[in-house]
Amino acid sequence: ANSNAAPAAATPMMAQYWALKEKAGDCLLFYRMGDFFELFFDDAKAAASTLDIALTSRGEHGGAPVPMCGVPVHSAESYLARLIKAGHRVAIAEQVETPAEAKARGGSKALVARDIVRFVTAGTLTEEALLEGRSANRLAAIAEVGSEGSVAIAAADISTGRFEVVAVAPAQVEAELARLAPSELLVSDAAADLPAWGARQLVRRPAADFASEAGRKRLEALFGVQTLDGFGQFGRGECAAMGALAAYLDHVATGQPIFLQPPVRLSASDRMAIDAATRESLELVRTMAGTREGSLLGTIDRTVTAAGARLLADDLASPLTDRAAILDRLDLVDALARDALWRDELRADLRALPDAGRALGRLVAGRGGPRDLAQLRDALGGARLLRERLARRGDLPPLLARLLPGLDGHGALVDELTRALIETPPVDAAQGGYIAEGYDAALDALRETARDGRKAIAALEAQYRERTGIASLKIRHNGVLGYHVEVPARHADALMAPESGFTHRQTLAGVVRFNSADLHEAASRVTQAGVHALAAEAAHLEALTEQATRRREAIAASCDVLARIDVAAALADHAMSHNWCRPDLADEPCLDVTGGRHPVVEAALAKSGERFVPNDVSLSEADRLWLVTGPNMGGKSTFLRQNALIVVLAQAGAFVPASAARLGLVDRLFSRVGASDNLARGRSTFMVEMVETAAILAQATPASFVILDEVGRGTSTYDGLALAWSVVEAVHEVNRCRCLFATHYHELTRLAETLEALSLHHVRAREWQGDLVLLHEVAEGPADRSYGLAVARLAGVPAGVVKRAEAVLAKLEAGRQATGGLAAGLDDLPLFAATLAEAPAEKTDALRAALADIDPDALAPREALDALYRLKQIL
Ligand code: ADP
Repeated sequence: ANSNAAPAAATPMMAQYWALKEKAGDCLLFYRMGDFFELFFDDAKAAASTLDIALTSRGEHGGAPVPMCGVPVHSAESYLARLIKAGHRVAIAEQVETPAEAKARGGSKALVARDIVRFVTAGTLTEEALLEGRSANRLAAIAEVGSEGSVAIAAADISTGRFEVVAVAPAQVEAELARLAPSELLVSDAAADLPAWGARQLVRRPAADFASEAGRKRLEALFGVQTLDGFGQFGRGECAAMGALAAYLDHVATGQPIFLQPPVRLSASDRMAIDAATRESLELVRTMAGTREGSLLGTIDRTVTAAGARLLADDLASPLTDRAAILDRLDLVDALARDALWRDELRADLRALPDAGRALGRLVAGRGGPRDLAQLRDALGGARLLRERLARRGDLPPLLARLLPGLDGHGALVDELTRALIETPPVDAAQGGYIAEGYDAALDALRETARDGRKAIAALEAQYRERTGIASLKIRHNGVLGYHVEVPARHADALMAPESGFTHRQTLAGVVRFNSADLHEAASRVTQAGVHALAAEAAHLEALTEQATRRREAIAASCDVLARIDVAAALADHAMSHNWCRPDLADEPCLDVTGGRHPVVEAALAKSGERFVPNDVSLSEADRLWLVTGPNMGGKSTFLRQNALIVVLAQAGAFVPASAARLGLVDRLFSRVGASDNLARGRSTFMVEMVETAAILAQATPASFVILDEVGRGTSTYDGLALAWSVVEAVHEVNRCRCLFATHYHELTRLAETLEALSLHHVRAREWQGDLVLLHEVAEGPADRSYGLAVARLAGVPAGVVKRAEAVLAKLEAGRQATGGLAAGLDDLPLFAATLAEAPAEKTDALRAALADIDPDALAPREALDALYRLKQIL
């Protein structure tokens, strides 16, 4: 990093470079030189190794050569994409004046002025080429305001302007970030040591950006309102987080307008809490390997629009807890599931619509073009037709009826764009030709003039051929000479004569080029008309863009409506073709599933022609913890996960993979898989397992649903059994949540004797003619044996080894009979409740005493809060 320190006496160029680098902060600086963006010093080294391009050098600095590398401007985007993907941020410094302007300003030696025109960072992309169409791309900011005891997280997808904010308890931050999966996370540089927020790209920003009052003012200015109250009641932390996010966008956009819709204030309790470990193990929207394919989302996604795909990902990542909202979604899916014809028609309509949300994002960011306007025209025009067709149906589900008006109101804009633009305009405005004939009479006249000029030039060619008798004479056009006459060299003499009316311009190997007065005249007419026409088109483009972006909020809202319809139709379609059913919501904490299936495993099996065996589950207050035993590979994990996925799907408002399902709403979902040989994660895996398990014991409520798969596996047998034992007891006695617990510790089945709401189940297997047959069927009661050796044989462990193991096992089992085995001595274990009552006794008394001292009537709200904090500390 030392080599990045500015030298005492720098050349003017280096001085300019250092000034820009200072502004760029820890971003790589792309320094424009001619047709290249050049990088120097450490930036060059980092970029060269990421991009695998040559590292060269230029000049010297402090006696050492200056490392340099460069990428061509015309293909910069693909290099940018790779740098961003590798976790870099890039500042782009362009020349902001022409060499002529520089000369006029500072004499012949003056350096062309350069400035950073934009920053390209993972969380602030709008370029189509750099974005994944079917996933959201979020920027998030996190702020903690001490007095509130909560942490606020603001998140925005600036490719569509979606902006949300939520305040959560400190313990929930991790889960919330896992849900949002931001590609950049802004943190105040004053924030103390950060918890390990994984591999997320942390960006430190000045503490001043996180000042809550300044944040509130910034947002009021951004949205042009006197107060934010119209959008919701925002706390200080929320204002701080939102303000920091907006400040960063301002910084990155370097003067361009930024696109944020008014913030939506989410409440953490509106959605099911799902922490990072649970998301990872359930593979909701991404597999553990990081791919979309193979996840729940990847398996069931039948959306036909990119915005629909993004919304479905959001839905699955944040299932609801509000019964009415879930029923609303289910009613819509239901209606679409019942009417295949209607569904197909809707989906066909939607499929034809472009991604207007992101087109709008580019237009607002000042990087839109004629193609983006055409996408708005087509999407909003399509939305209007869709609405008309839907409005003609009488019996719309309530959610749809409420959403429909949101598709309205773009008539004037659509009409204007329809008149103004040709059918398929170019992406780039530079060449013109995108404004339709008949939209602007003056533009038409200019084009007419140009056309006439070109006709006149064509006529001249015929005329010159006749006059000179040279049949191979041509009139050509290029960037240097403009229009010119070209003849093969052997005919050139005839045109060289002064009286021929031609002036010599250029001699090349085989041809000679000339100009003529007539041609020059006609050509200037064409060029002039062309220049004026381009200018006229550019003016229209600007006006139309302005007209569209003025309606950005309404357009974004329409896009959301289209996406919601797409998601519902897609879910209905998938449900119908896979025999899924509508879940019922119950009032009590139960989970009753008949014929439940795991959609991802089922899909994988179907590929090889295998059948998935459906399984039932029935949890209730009286029987809320199922202990599932049985051989390895018997289907325990699959059974656990399928039920967690059914809960997620149901509360996301989708049908579920079962023939019938009924559940009481789940507030928090936990999934834990015992550590095995997954060493890739660095931390001691058993430590991870215990940290994650501790979180469940601390957070699960009677309304939660927990699946625990082989917890305790990551340590020695005795430790593991002991921990598994006490975790089951705690979940049963303290958390009292619905829970499925899979284990190979046979000894745990003895818990059924003491825990009244625990029952025993197993996955069935049978030995048949010496082979093990796994039936993947969940049945009542404990497994009769563990079949470990049979599984080993099934897996191809050599016969000799298995035989030897049989002998060892026989010895062990004989030993177990003699000593009472692993669980010997547990008979006189005191009750779990008794243990609990013992340990924290003193503290409980301190708590009681403190509580008794409090007189609620005498407390101001502020003091009440302080008192609560004091109590927590005693705890
Ligand atoms: P366990 O957790 O008991 O070791 P898994 O749930 O990992 O077993 O299942 C092992 C394999 O068995 C799965 O990869 C799948 O191929 C198959 N399997 C599991 N459940 C079923 C089922 N219900 N129907 C058909 N095959 C299943």
